[in-house]
Amino acid sequence: MAGRVVVVFDFDKTILDCDSDNWVVDELGVNHLFTQLLPTLPWNSLMDRMMMELHSRGKTMEDIALCLKQAPFHPRIISAIKLAHSAGCDLKIVSDANVIFIETILKHHGLLDCFSEIITNPSLVDNEGSLRILPYHDFKSCSHKCNICPPNMCKGVVMEKIMMKSCESTKRFIYVGDGSADFCGGLKLVEGDILMARNKFPVWDLICSNPLSIKAHIHAWNDGEELGIGLLNLINTIFIQDNCSCEGPPADCKSQTTSLSHDSSFSNALPIIPH
Ligand SMILES: [Mg+2]
Ligand SMILES: [Zn+2]
Repeated sequence: MAGRVVVVFDFDKTILDCDSDNWVVDELGVNHLFTQLLPTLPWNSLMDRMMMELHSRGKTMEDIALCLKQAPFHPRIISAIKLAHSAGCDLKIVSDANVIFIETILKHHGLLDCFSEIITNPSLVDNEGSLRILPYHDFKSCSHKCNICPPNMCKGVVMEKIMMKSCESTKRFIYVGDGSADFCGGLKLVEGDILMARNKFPVWDLICSNPLSIKAHIHAWNDGEELGIGLLNLINTIFIQDNCSCEGPPADCKSQTTSLSHDSSFSNALPIIPH
């Protein structure tokens, strides 16, 4: 039953308590050049340019990895991810960062194996030893035509692919994010799904200015503490609802909750209730 819950996370300012690109640029001292070039290049191309700049200034992959490992990560999110995974939820990341940044950080916190898929911009170390960051969509040959998302990645297109692949209409999706592109991803959700949107961030502003556009239930969160607790509560609620609907039409779902906690089919869900 738990496998029916798919949680799709944004990475920067959602799983991670900062933006990994900004973190590396600031910590390794290329912020001035980054700000200077920002009006002239798409973000993804600029990050690639910054990685070459760091290489030319003698910064190694080890320096970048060390910096990434120090990026702030809320402990409540670490435990929520581990519990959701151990309860059998299918966890995925859809992010405009890049694969090396994300994997380095997740591995450092012991979370890499919790995710079935990380969909993000490809990155590699070239022959010179410089990190290179490529776009997820090859926007020079073909545009995704979305005016919410940056040219290199439309999260709506990615979500459509994920939902099509899941090919099981009974799956319940929880999408968690803070940015404008997460609003685009959230537009693909259907009734019964949940959009966990970060309060006072671009995703929230877009929801407020387009109040009828999201079909999913909307759940606001402010920080890592609220995200970790809220996510586990929502997953528990889905488990309880599913149990109610599997066992015929109960007169009152809530009245069954106590007895379900002793049901072996529900035992997987129990450890995820936060204390
Ligand atoms: Mg984000
Ligand atoms: Zn989009």
